[in-house]
Amino acid sequence: MVTLFDASKKPARHPEKAHRPDNEILRKPDWIRVKAPGTKVFKETQKTIRDNDIVTVCSEAACPNIGECFDKKHASFMIMGEICTRACAFCNVATGKPYPLDKNEPKNVANGVAKLGLNHVVITSVDRDDLNDGGAEHFVDVVEAIREKCPDTTIELLTPDFLKKEGALEKVVAAKPDVFNHNLETVPSNYLSICPGSRYFYSIRLLQRVKELDPNMFTKSGIMVGLGETRNEVLQLMDDLRSANVDFLTIGQYLAPSRKHHPVKNFVTPEEFKAYETIAYSKGFLLVSSSPLTRSSHHAGDDFEKLRMARLAKLS
Ligand code: SF4
Repeated sequence: MVTLFDASKKPARHPEKAHRPDNEILRKPDWIRVKAPGTKVFKETQKTIRDNDIVTVCSEAACPNIGECFDKKHASFMIMGEICTRACAFCNVATGKPYPLDKNEPKNVANGVAKLGLNHVVITSVDRDDLNDGGAEHFVDVVEAIREKCPDTTIELLTPDFLKKEGALEKVVAAKPDVFNHNLETVPSNYLSICPGSRYFYSIRLLQRVKELDPNMFTKSGIMVGLGETRNEVLQLMDDLRSANVDFLTIGQYLAPSRKHHPVKNFVTPEEFKAYETIAYSKGFLLVSSSPLTRSSHHAGDDFEKLRMARLAKLS
């Protein structure tokens, strides 16, 4: 069966995937159960986000944890629009030609952080390969606006790779986010089919460069499993991240947003996730979150505290 897109309606979110054959959607195992959205606090969080003109990756990426996170007034903000210039095979964010940057966005995001009362905020973005600096300056503007409005809130940036944008990474690191996160997403053998616009070793180098620029900055990276990778490839990826001195690794189960996206190849069991966690700790990560529903920004505030504690314990 092939799902047809109705051209008379809104433009397709994923025009590049429209003509792909439909993939089978595997039935989720029992261990993937999430809190249903819709509580009173969930609706209040949604309203605050809407009223402040904010885009969240929680909604755009169809995150399975949205019920739990919004119910705790947690959200991860996605800046620079809702349209991405890349077309990764796993991602639910719309692909196409993005709109110009919204100059009010830094202020709106800072207001949203204040209204939600966030102690720790995760700011991510779409890829903006169309901008000369990949959006680095805009990241800096958002960090500065949050610092001004909410000086006690710690800031975690989850950035794109700024591929071929000279000086972009340096600008963002100079803004001194508390955590610098850049996701590898998957093992190198999957890059051509899953994230063809990105380069695995460029991303490793980017994370290494952050530590060179600021050795005290916490660095973090995440992958999805269930995309056809082998266990040995995941272990090699851990070594690659450790060679770049990355502090924190997140590993979660990939869930396909639609039949047109890359199919789930397998569901990794909770025991296998636990084994990845044990191995990753043995390789020297300060913190590891590895479970079916782990997402890059899930429990990010609590994890930031754990990171700080883990560093202190190591130093002492
Ligand atoms: S895990 Fe992250 S992206 Fe998902 S709902 Fe929570 S804050 Fe949003």
